[in-house]
Amino acid sequence: MLNIIVCIKQVPMVSELPWNSKTGTLKRELAQGMMDPASRRALEAALQIKEKQAAHICAITMGPALAEEILHQAKALGADEGVLLTDRQMAGADTFLTSHILAKCIQKECKTFDLILCGAQTSDSETAQVGPQLAEELKIPAIGYVNCVEVKENIIEVQRHVDDFFEILNMDLPGLITIDLSAYKPRYLALGGVETAFEKPDIKTVSAGELGFDKDFSALKDSPTRIIDVFSPTTQKENRVLKGAVKKVVDQLFDDYGKVISSAMGKDLKTHEHDEA
Ligand SMILES: Cc1cc2nc3c(=O)[nH]c(=O)nc-3n(C[C@H](O)[C@H](O)[C@H](O)COP(=O)(O)OP(=O)(O)OC[C@H]3O[C@@H](n4cnc5c(N)ncnc54)[C@H](O)[C@@H]3O)c2cc1C
Repeated sequence: MLNIIVCIKQVPMVSELPWNSKTGTLKRELAQGMMDPASRRALEAALQIKEKQAAHICAITMGPALAEEILHQAKALGADEGVLLTDRQMAGADTFLTSHILAKCIQKECKTFDLILCGAQTSDSETAQVGPQLAEELKIPAIGYVNCVEVKENIIEVQRHVDDFFEILNMDLPGLITIDLSAYKPRYLALGGVETAFEKPDIKTVSAGELGFDKDFSALKDSPTRIIDVFSPTTQKENRVLKGAVKKVVDQLFDDYGKVISSAMGKDLKTHEHDEA
């Protein structure tokens, strides 16, 4: 039996949300939550493995109490159990502490795992750091941005799209992979699944104390990285009309915008190189 852990995060359903300017975190209580799309694809990859061979899927999420909703959803889709890591002491965790707490939970609650699946990056914070950092914490190998997974006894074979080519890689288990957002189209939730999920909830709640953190621990204070500011980028547009003979206009274009055009093209254009053409 293959023991699979899928890390899923609850994210806000809308992208434009007010921020808490003091803590630099989203006021997520103002939005309805949903399963992060990349996490949902990681779950889909696990479900497809389970369709081919005996497997047990444990979905883990760390978040506010309301994040329990996505564990019910994961169960309705086919996960066997859910673990909810929730505690005020864990609130405001950066990716470093999130990975550390997830690792502690895995070591305590699901020691005998074979494969951990994460989304490559979330739709709200999108750092893409949790998967690789979690592998580092657990001292297991990891492969990121995977498009396709095949389990072959004690190894997995994965395919991923890199630049203009595909890579096929093997990795020993236990190991961790992160699933690319373009892969594994998620399945629809069947009504039968919802019924099963509510008949047998099988969701365990774990607190900071249960993982061995003392009462002075505060993820917000103890996180080594802090959000200093959050703002929308400003863009400036300028419309100019260049008039005159073609050569004069092109010369002017290169004089005014040559450096910008070169860096956008990734090519070192010689000034007036058009003269030679
Ligand atoms: C009480 C409480 C309140 C929280 N409030 C916030 C908040 O306001 N804003 C916020 O962004 N985060 C919040 N978190 C969660 C945590 O701090 C973030 O999950 C973390 O910073 C992840 O960053 P990211 O989205 O960039 O991850 P990425 O590295 O982009 O995530 C990649 C993948 O890692 C996995 N992953 C990431 N986060 C989690 C998680 N929490 N649980 C399980 N799997 C995960 C998923 O598979 C995801 O697809 C809260 C946590 C708690 C306990």
